[in-house]
Amino acid sequence: MHEFKSRRNYLYCEDIRVLDLAQRFGTPLYIYSYKTLIDHYLKLKAAFKKIRPLICYSVKANSNLAILKALVDKGAGLDIVSGGELFMALKSGCPVNKIVYASVGKTNREIEEAIRRRILFFNVESVAELENINRLSKRLNRVTQAAIRINPDVEPRTHKYITTGKLTNKFGIDFKSAYQILLLRRALTNIKIAGLHIHIGSQITESQPYVAAISKMVDFIERLKKKGIKLEYLNIGGGLGIIYDRETPQTAARFAQRVSPLLKKTGLKIILEPGRFIVGNAGILVARVLYIKSTFKKKFVIVDSGMNDLIRPALYDAYHKILPLRATSHRLQAKEKVDIVGPICESADFFAKNRSLPKLQEGDYIAIMGAGAYGFSMSSNYNSRPRPAEVMVVKDKVFLIRKKENYQDIIRNEIIPSFLLGL
Ligand code: PLP
Repeated sequence: MHEFKSRRNYLYCEDIRVLDLAQRFGTPLYIYSYKTLIDHYLKLKAAFKKIRPLICYSVKANSNLAILKALVDKGAGLDIVSGGELFMALKSGCPVNKIVYASVGKTNREIEEAIRRRILFFNVESVAELENINRLSKRLNRVTQAAIRINPDVEPRTHKYITTGKLTNKFGIDFKSAYQILLLRRALTNIKIAGLHIHIGSQITESQPYVAAISKMVDFIERLKKKGIKLEYLNIGGGLGIIYDRETPQTAARFAQRVSPLLKKTGLKIILEPGRFIVGNAGILVARVLYIKSTFKKKFVIVDSGMNDLIRPALYDAYHKILPLRATSHRLQAKEKVDIVGPICESADFFAKNRSLPKLQEGDYIAIMGAGAYGFSMSSNYNSRPRPAEVMVVKDKVFLIRKKENYQDIIRNEIIPSFLLGL
């Protein structure tokens, strides 16, 4: 469910006509619905109310400070994967004891900063990293909390690029090695292993893979208990799928119903790290049609936004629903098959292929739906294109939450060496 709805033939975000926003702020433009964002967070919280997990929103899905602050103000913690995301998390006002930090490649500088800030724990992805965190903690005279990220080797039935819990993926530590680490944990003088972590993939639409992974964790935790190894946390990661096309993902309530009995068995404090579920359908990308081009084989609708703004179709062949902002005229009711493409010099620069859409013409605006997660956060300046503005709608009010970049922003950090300037 989301707050982008058609009213009197116009697409609205909450109580504002999207066309008015496109004309006021220019295109391309990211638009977020505050209500949708918060509703999704609260929906998950309500579904798990008996377990009362800490919900750490996954910053990578959309790291705009306004999005982070909106969620943090409602009690969310944050899941981070870099020093930059730690910086963002702190800027958003997130309490440090609600920050968890994953990533297979944390640098010393990033680790030290997180130790100094006393985050809740690191999700540790390898033995080498564990030893490194121990060494750095010792140097800083701290005892740091860690959760071992387990690779449970389950098939999440999603795109191969967003599968993370198979032994062929780079993430986490297998059960056998994790067991050895836990048996020898006392050798790690400056780390307290406080929990276990899994994250099996993204855009997972069924509960079965979670049930499979969590069942393995329940057995493992039992085994550890028998060895006198007590833990405090079980972090079950993110990955909950949303509706982009015709998916019928489990609802939050159904998901909670399926996994809660298993989670309860562990007796541990539960952490969730959803990203897409919270922000995916809370955002759209709006673009304007520049040209219509017909070849012998195809019709292309060329828009003013490209894969630098939203890379998911190029990267994952991802489907995004496309809606005209105005559906009144006759012309918009006749459908035709087109490719919606951007201006970038790559054949992967498309938003839709062979899609049956209402007939579009130059100057029309379209909404690329479900662009809130892994949209702006994966954007780039490729082809020296300034990144778009982002706005947040709250009922009938709109707030600019990121200015559109200009050409100066693109070259801000570039330096022409003096020899090229003839100096
Ligand atoms: N947690 C970890 C460790 C991740 O790597 C990711 C995404 O890659 C997430 C959480 C969030 O995943 P999603 O946005 O699918 O919920």
